[in-house]
Amino acid sequence: MTAFCSNRTVTVIIDKAFSGIKAMNTMQINVSQLLKEGIGSVRDYEISGTIDTTDSGASSPIRGEVRLMRTSRSILVKGKLYVTIDATCSRCLKTFDCPLTLDIEEEFFPVLDASSGTPLPLPDEPSSFSIDEHQVLDLSEVARQYPILAIPMKPLCRNDCPGMQLNS
Ligand SMILES: [Zn+2]
Repeated sequence: MTAFCSNRTVTVIIDKAFSGIKAMNTMQINVSQLLKEGIGSVRDYEISGTIDTTDSGASSPIRGEVRLMRTSRSILVKGKLYVTIDATCSRCLKTFDCPLTLDIEEEFFPVLDASSGTPLPLPDEPSSFSIDEHQVLDLSEVARQYPILAIPMKPLCRNDCPGMQLNS
């Protein structure tokens, strides 16, 4: 099976739920206040940054909208990331822009209790993310991992790519 990049334009709809949105220049969000609030409290953020998606070190701008929700022992991050990566067409071998829209959902666990400052045990899942001792939730690793997982195995520059053109 061949996967295609989504070439449609992504329209960002900012509804009333996002009226309290905060623009971030980085992928790091201080969540010390949110950790002190009750279960179910939410904050919405816009994030942006750059990620390295290739071995050549080329970086791609990435942005997204995320909602952070306080749960009983963590902060649940849900949202969308938008990134355009350089891909190589599997038929004609040309490089082209491959826009990706990524749905993210990850749980971040604090290493310290926000109120008392006492260390908290981290969950057993080795892949879980943590919130550092300064109560900073860092989304850069999520922003790096998701696009890598989402890159199609056999990308095509367009659905009807004719393949290698010997006489061009
Ligand atoms: Zn092609």
